[in-house]
Parts: sequence; structure tokens; C-alpha cells
Amino acid sequence: MYDALRSRYTFPCPTRGESSVALSAFRLVERLPGAAHPAVFRVRFACPCGGEHDALVGHDDLDWAPLGLEAGTFLNLMTSRVEPVAAELGDLAASRIGAGEWPWSFFCYPEERPRPVFPSFFALLAPGGGSLGLAVRCPGCHNLSVNLVSHSHVDVPFHNDAEVGVVGHVFADDALRTLEEFRAELYSAHFDVRRLSLE
Ligand SMILES: [Zn+2]
Ligand SMILES: [Zn+2]
Repeated sequence: MYDALRSRYTFPCPTRGESSVALSAFRLVERLPGAAHPAVFRVRFACPCGGEHDALVGHDDLDWAPLGLEAGTFLNLMTSRVEPVAAELGDLAASRIGAGEWPWSFFCYPEERPRPVFPSFFALLAPGGGSLGLAVRCPGCHNLSVNLVSHSHVDVPFHNDAEVGVVGHVFADDALRTLEEFRAELYSAHFDVRRLSLE
């Protein structure tokens, strides 16, 4: 489902059969209720066919596959051999996280601080003005924050924008339930600039 070398998820498409999209093409991420372990998420994504479709993604694919932990095999051009790649990429990701680098981060407005995060905490995403609006459910305080980030900030693990836009108010628990509400918020919101350094 996830191709770590191309940073793309592959999902079924009713028009094309299947489509490959980056994480920034996700529009909505919702954990399905129930005690499934590992957890399963419903994802709505913007498809290259022009439509938006829903797909189911397991927790591992959502949070760990982009770090190369299920990357499968690749062709080693030096040895012309197909080799397992997951172990190497996984070790690299683990050592970077151990050194204090995080694959994803966001700025939590209620706590006034940057925080590390994983894609399963992304609630809503919508492009606009060359940037990407990102609503994150904070793993620490459980409040929603809305950041304005680059596409690379989401698509490229360990690429964190130096500064992000932050909507300067606290959202009620039932705010931003739908993509329509989120898009309306992005159009009307004022963004403050915050540094995203986790040090
Ligand atoms: Zn499609
Ligand atoms: Zn928080």
C-alpha cells in the first residue's frame, strides 16, 4: 500500500482501478471506532482522477510505512541485486528519532509549543495558496490546532518547516468536523507565524 521509495500510498480508484497519492493528498483522517488492534483509519484522499475517495489504512501503514519500516525490497544499483531495504531505512529512522529529530511535527496553539506527531493524529488537510492547511489533534493535550505548512512538511519524513502559520484560537471539541467547515476556517482565518524548532 505504501511505496517508501516514491513516498506514495496506493489506493483503489473507481475510475482508474488504483491511484498513487502522497500524504498531502489526504483530506480527512478518522480513526474507526472499535477495539481493532492495530487501529484502522478511514482516509479520504484527493485522487488524480479528480474525485475524492475513501480508503481504509492500518495504523502501521499510516505511521510507520513512510519511515521505511515496511518498504520491502529494492534494486541495489551497485550490486544489481534486489535487497531488503526495510531494516536499513528503519534503523536510520530510529537513530534520527533517537537523536531528537522527528519525522513530523506541528505547533500546538493551546500549549504554545511545537510537538512531534504522527500522521494518525492529522484530522483534516486542505491545500490553498500553494500551502497546505493541516488540522492536528494534539497527542499531548488532545486539542485541535490548525497549521499552514508546505507540502514537503507532510510528504517528506524528517523535513520540518522552520516556520509555520498557526491559527490563533482554540477550537471547540465539535469544531471542524467536516472538510467544508475546515476549508471555510482556512479562508477566514488569520495565521500567526511560529518557529517549529523542537529544541
Ligand atoms: Zn480516482
Ligand atoms: Zn497540545
